[in-house]
Amino acid sequence: MSILDKAYKVEDFRKQGHALVDMMADYLAEASTDREDVQAIPWQSPEKQLDYWQQDFSKPDQADPLELLKDVMDRSIQVHRKRYLGHQTTPTLPVTVLSSAVTALLNQGMGVYEMGMVGNTLEKVLTEHLAQKLGFSNQASGFITSGGSLGNLTGLLAARATATAIWQEGYQDGQQLAVLVSEEAHYCIDRAARIMGLGASGIIKVPVNEKFQLRTDLLEQYYQQAVSEGKQVICVVGCAGTTSTGSYDDMEAIAAFSKQYGIWFHVDGAHGAPAAFSPKYKHLIKGIEQADSVVVDYHKMMMTPSLSTAVLFKNGGDAYRIFSQRAQYLWTDQNTEEWYNGGKRTFECTKAMSALNVYTVFRTYGDGVFQENIERLYGLAEIFADLIKANDNLELAYEPECNIVCFRVKASPEASDNLNLSIRRQLLEEGRFYIVQTILNGSLYLRVSLMNPLSTEQELQELLIAVEEKAAVASVQ
Ligand SMILES: *Cc1c(COP(=O)(O)O)cnc(C)c1O
Repeated sequence: MSILDKAYKVEDFRKQGHALVDMMADYLAEASTDREDVQAIPWQSPEKQLDYWQQDFSKPDQADPLELLKDVMDRSIQVHRKRYLGHQTTPTLPVTVLSSAVTALLNQGMGVYEMGMVGNTLEKVLTEHLAQKLGFSNQASGFITSGGSLGNLTGLLAARATATAIWQEGYQDGQQLAVLVSEEAHYCIDRAARIMGLGASGIIKVPVNEKFQLRTDLLEQYYQQAVSEGKQVICVVGCAGTTSTGSYDDMEAIAAFSKQYGIWFHVDGAHGAPAAFSPKYKHLIKGIEQADSVVVDYHKMMMTPSLSTAVLFKNGGDAYRIFSQRAQYLWTDQNTEEWYNGGKRTFECTKAMSALNVYTVFRTYGDGVFQENIERLYGLAEIFADLIKANDNLELAYEPECNIVCFRVKASPEASDNLNLSIRRQLLEEGRFYIVQTILNGSLYLRVSLMNPLSTEQELQELLIAVEEKAAVASVQ
């Protein structure tokens, strides 16, 4: 039999598929046990990892892929572990693993309606629902793109398309654009602005207050400074949850400023905008409904697999200006606003039907699953902050507004960074817990994102014990 005919054999797929689902269920069961020996990360250096896979790659072909997939699972960080407390990657809901398999099977194109009839429609339904949750009117609409980074670039491109003719005519002599953004904004905003040709001087970083929120009292001054330097400010960016500390900027103040000068208001709500689902926490995003565009990662606080990001526009029609181009083989007229031809508004041509994962969660569990997730994780962060404050050896960096908590072991200013670096390194190499680190006000802090709703106070207490143990080891060295 030819390799291809064998590769498409249905009975192999059926058999392997059943076995794989069992294997994944075992992984999920294992991931949420309390057993000490189950690691959050089987840490290995990049050199050793490379060596392993180079050897693996040179082995003879294997008949059954399951062994390989098991190997990958065993050697990867396990985001479903209760002691996984690191970056903002979600322990995906099991039902989305199933919908992902269907997405891969159907392999829809999404650029044009015919290639993604269901997917393009789901995107409209989902983004309009999310827009309503955020408080927008029914003029709002959007689409799904591949990640917050691309989503933020798309939002900034919309701002530029509204303020200038650069998309059509290119930059004119002496034309210098700028965006106003919190110094705590995700690096992808800076990157997006540079991609757009704004250069370093086009990214105006506004300082933050002691809660790491953009100092809106400085917006006027930074704006006037830019104008006096001959810059055209095209956009002001608000963060609904910064990456390092999960701080929410004052959306109402930024909205008022943007209105005063007729500047596009973009919100990076990749992490924190889903607070909208919780009556208890939605006050954090008050004013977000005045934004011209908002980015929300479904794959962070909404428990779906990477990547799936909503880009919402207050005026849905604004989105058609971003990538105004002719592509005759895809659609006949660029000037018509066809929501169902996805490629008119997205950077991507071929794009995964990731909307199915999001839609499946909504249809299976409703909005309530997001409310519970937000409230449990944000609540857990408050508990964790209290544990830190009750411990004299530890210092909390700020009162958490969401599920991101930064702290450090107290030490002299000269010793602090190295001590906390060593603690985090020891935890990584041991692998029982996974946490990360960040720099705040020039100093190193340990950083925890509580992403797993199955984590409890128990794991957090254990983490702090482990942190103190590692601190003792580091101090002896
Ligand atoms: C994660 C994050 C991003 C980047 O999103 P990706 O989906 O990883 O590309 C942007 N902004 C904020 C605030 C984030 O937390």
